[in-house]
Amino acid sequence: MINKNHLGFAVLLGLLGLLVNLAPIPLFGNQQLIIGNLFFVIVAIFLGPWYALLTSLLCATGLYIAWDSWHMFLLFPLEALWLGYARRKEFYTLYADITFWLLLGMPLFYLYANLVFQMPNSYMTFITLKQGINGILYTALAVICVTLLPSQLHIQGKLVNKKRKSFNAQLTYTFTQVLTLALLVSALIFNNNSIEQQQKDVKLNLEDSATHLGKATESFIEGHISAIDSAARWLSLSDYDADQWQSLLSKLHQSYPFFISMLIADEKGQISAASPISRLDKEAVKNKNLSISDRHYFQEAFYNQLTYISPAFLGRGFGSDPIVAISSPLYSKEDPVSPIGIIEGSLNLTKFASIDERNREYKEQAMVLTDENGLVIYASEMLDLAPLTPLKASTSGQRYRTSLNMINFRQLDSFNPEFAYAKYVLKNGWSLHVVVPFLPLVKQVEQQYLTTFSLLFVAFIITVLLIKVISNRLTQPLETIAKKFSQWGITEHQDEAMLDTMPQEIYALSSSIQKSKQELISYQLELEEKVAMRTVELEDANLKLQALAERDELTQLYNRRYVENHFGNIHDMCKRSYSALAFCIIDIDHFKKINDTYGHQIGDSALIALADLMKQFFKRDTDIISRYGGEEFLVVLPQCNALQVEQHLNQFKELVAEHQIEVPGKAPISLKVSIGAVISNAGYMNDIDHWFKMADLNLYEAKENGRNRVVCSLLSEADQLS
Ligand code: GH3
Ligand code: MG
Ligand code: MG
Repeated sequence: MINKNHLGFAVLLGLLGLLVNLAPIPLFGNQQLIIGNLFFVIVAIFLGPWYALLTSLLCATGLYIAWDSWHMFLLFPLEALWLGYARRKEFYTLYADITFWLLLGMPLFYLYANLVFQMPNSYMTFITLKQGINGILYTALAVICVTLLPSQLHIQGKLVNKKRKSFNAQLTYTFTQVLTLALLVSALIFNNNSIEQQQKDVKLNLEDSATHLGKATESFIEGHISAIDSAARWLSLSDYDADQWQSLLSKLHQSYPFFISMLIADEKGQISAASPISRLDKEAVKNKNLSISDRHYFQEAFYNQLTYISPAFLGRGFGSDPIVAISSPLYSKEDPVSPIGIIEGSLNLTKFASIDERNREYKEQAMVLTDENGLVIYASEMLDLAPLTPLKASTSGQRYRTSLNMINFRQLDSFNPEFAYAKYVLKNGWSLHVVVPFLPLVKQVEQQYLTTFSLLFVAFIITVLLIKVISNRLTQPLETIAKKFSQWGITEHQDEAMLDTMPQEIYALSSSIQKSKQELISYQLELEEKVAMRTVELEDANLKLQALAERDELTQLYNRRYVENHFGNIHDMCKRSYSALAFCIIDIDHFKKINDTYGHQIGDSALIALADLMKQFFKRDTDIISRYGGEEFLVVLPQCNALQVEQHLNQFKELVAEHQIEVPGKAPISLKVSIGAVISNAGYMNDIDHWFKMADLNLYEAKENGRNRVVCSLLSEADQLS
């Protein structure tokens, strides 16, 4: 599903990237820094691979317009997809990008560049490396932009992390971003500045050499011109006749060893003297059979009466070296207006090699001297340019960002420059080029880049390791603290090494956690103790409550509720054992009188005394003695002997009557009781009210018949039915 907002975002950033990529930042040579691609990295981080692909195509279009090369349509969309997928898998983008360039980007670019670009192989490493570094640089920029963007600005529905990352990983990644950007940018700026300085130096050296060599050449030529000029004047004014000129010329030649030859010709252009004579046909000279009337240097000197220096040409007669001829007219003493001939010296052009070698400070430099017709007079050996051939050259390297002037002598239509040069034009119209090969300069730059980047790489690795150590110092104690705190009980064991490296704040945290943990434990123990105590108290209170609920407060006998609750169980027990059960109501006779006579308190004491007697008399564990209410008591005797109950009760009645109750200040009193009882086997019905009713009838009968007696009846199941 395509989200309209996301599409808009991707296109907008793509267009921004396109604009920025239209003007890449120039580096050294023809290398440029691409920044616009950071926009597709941002899209990859926010929206994943497919939107990033779209943005990257737009960014690449900008570069295509600027560079006119197709490789960006291959590499950058691939990078965008890679980063988008890595983002989906929640890999860190910068790490993913470094991996991309190492595994895919740089190898692919190397292959592409080898196939498509016509570039010397030596450039390849550098250019390929530059691609990778550039990629990592704009990715680092993009990642930092995303980190710094306020989270409110983040678009809706963007990719979010689900996995929680460790603090260590987060810290390392943040530092990696900053380091990558800082190191790369500073390396680029540093290198760029130092390269620019280097270029200036190279340029200055070239210009210096050109001026120096040019001036040396000028003075070399001027020296020889004035030599010919003075010789002409001297011969014109001398008294020597023409026969002596041969020996004069030979002497003169000895002073000017750079002339390969010298000659004197007469007005017809016939050579009349020559040096070294050994190299000419002596007889022909003597007979004036050798003519130079067709030579330019003769005509210029003789007809125009000038001291003349010729363009370069191939010598004749004296061997076939390339030469320039310097000539001057000769006059007779008598007639200083009409020349009688010329004197000429041929400068051997190969002699410039000595100027070249003597004056060149920099071994890597070379020179080319051309005459006014553009013919090579002299070229350093390294250039391999034949003398007297026209100098073919083309300016090159227009795409290179450098202050140097570039020139090609061999590959005239190549973009890549062969030489950097400086030019000097001599007074006589000759030109001097001093050149230095361009490739070593590039190599030097490459070397510098490679060295700085490898140094940076080492620094980078060390820093990342350091960050790991530091973040471990923070996270490991935290983990230990968390573990320790989660384990219950006091663990006194501490890792000593960790304690040493633990940062102050964490140590404080650890100590305070340790302290509060101990407090918590002692608090817990205290609490447990309190709870135990309270439980005992509660149990006690419960027992009391139960006693209160079941017992009569005055006599401590069971109360009515107790009997009513337990009667069913007692009845069942008797029923199971086919035994008899006696149900007896004991009522004090005329008790009201005792109250009235002695007071309520004595009444109470009497009740207590009776209760004590009952406790003593009805001793079996299973017997239940209770105060049923007021001065009425109920005694239940399970598993009794039916025949003996009446006698037993009578014994009790007697016991009561005999018992004396002390009354302070008065004569002791005694009580009398009436007892109504029923006895039945266990088959009798399980209803206390019925039992009570039957016993109460008997009690009533006892009272009616004069009190102080026992009325007891044996009930059968038949009575129940009636
Ligand atoms: P009778 O022989 O017919 O049983 O006569 P009696 O006076 O014993 O019976 P009656 O029911 O007329 O009076 C019962 C008296 O018992 C009334 C009341 O004052 C007294 N009484 C009931 N409960 C208590 C008690 O807890 N303490 C004291 N001191 N007297 C009580
Ligand atoms: Mg009564
Ligand atoms: Mg009574």
